[in-house]
Order: sequence, then C-alpha cells, then structure tokens
Amino acid sequence: MKKFIALFLTIIVILTVFKTLDLLKKRPLNYQETKGFLMPLKKDLLKKYKEKRDFSKTPEPKAIVIPKDKQKRIFTIQEHHATHLHWDFRLEIEGVMPSWAIPKGPSLDPKVKRLAVQTEDHPVAYAQFEGVIPEGYGAGTVMVWDYGTYKNVREKDGKLVPMEKCLKEGRIEVELQGKKLKGVFVLIRFKDEEKNWLFFKKDDEFADARRNITKTENKSALTDRTIKQIKEN
Ligand code: MN
Repeated sequence: MKKFIALFLTIIVILTVFKTLDLLKKRPLNYQETKGFLMPLKKDLLKKYKEKRDFSKTPEPKAIVIPKDKQKRIFTIQEHHATHLHWDFRLEIEGVMPSWAIPKGPSLDPKVKRLAVQTEDHPVAYAQFEGVIPEGYGAGTVMVWDYGTYKNVREKDGKLVPMEKCLKEGRIEVELQGKKLKGVFVLIRFKDEEKNWLFFKKDDEFADARRNITKTENKSALTDRTIKQIKEN
C-alpha cells in the first residue's frame, strides 16, 4: 500500500513539474507594472502585438502595459524602412500605444492630409525602440524620428473629451511637444471604416507649408543617428 502511495505522489510531483515548465514556456507576455512588480494582465491589451512576433527572434520590446499612475502621455514617430517605407505614429492611451502607419509621413502643411492606417497597439516601451527587426513581421530598420509628450486638446461643449473616447469615436486632436513636431495634429477616421484615418497638421503657429520635414530632418531624435548608421549598428 505504501508503495502505491509513494508511486502516486511521485507521479503527481512529475506532472506538477511538467505543468509548471509548460506554463513558463507559455507564460503570458502581457504584464502590467504594479509597485515595481510585473503582474500578468487578465485582459490581453497587447494580444495582437504578441501574436505577430516571435520574441526569441526579434529585439522589439516585450508586451508590458503601463499602469495609470505611470502614464505620461508620450508619443513617438518611428521611421520604418520595411518593405514599404512608412512612419509609425504612436500615442500612449490607457497604458499602451495605439498606432498608425503613415506611408508618406507627417507634413507641416495644413492642406496636406496623409493617409494613416491603424495597426496593432504597441507597448509603451516601443517608443524608445530603435534597431533592426530581423526577417519576419515588420522586418527592416526602425529609427525614432520624433518623440515627446502630447496634450489632448479635443473639446466638446467646453470640456475635454477623454482620449479613450476620442480613439473610439475616430477623432483625435493632440498638441505635440516633440523634438521636431510641435503644435496641434489631427487624426480622423474615415466614415464606416475600421483602419483608415487621415492625419494632418492644424493651422497654427507651427504650421509651415514650405518645409518638407521628413526630408530635412532625417536623423534620429533619440540618438542623432542616420538610418544607415542604425542599420550598420
Ligand atoms: Mn511599421
């Protein structure tokens, strides 16, 4: 009888060890930083971000959601030399970064409206990511073209509309305080469309129809490197 109990317990222990190893392998990469600890999140805000990437191969940041008390309203624009060159505009909203790929990049001319295709939300750490994404999803060199903080300026009946609501409603108006971009920029979703938005500069003191800013300001706002220098590491 004792032998049976011993055998039974051994099996339980082995199964537990295997289960733990399995859990570790499949551990969710979606965490929230709470009081210095990384806690797994129930609601997977960065599910799509994780699904598209193999973190054993890509140097891109892991999926961590920033808690409310640590959110800083940051934005970033990354020049991404993928199959097709584009600029990724990302705004920190609710601890992650909703993102748009802008094929022609930002313009300071208020008359120029650029197509902005919404992509999967990115982790906030992505704002500082610069480097080479290996073969696979998003392969190519990434440069932090601009970064800084933003202020929500969209009002309705004299009151600020919360960013989450602006995103849901498909109308965002933010004042950027970046190294290169300043002043108000607008994002408007096309009617009855899920992913296609328009991105343009509001006519204010920072608007400038003569400057082609993506051409003239073509170094990293973070490290002052050219795309070639980043590629060659
Ligand atoms: Mn991209």
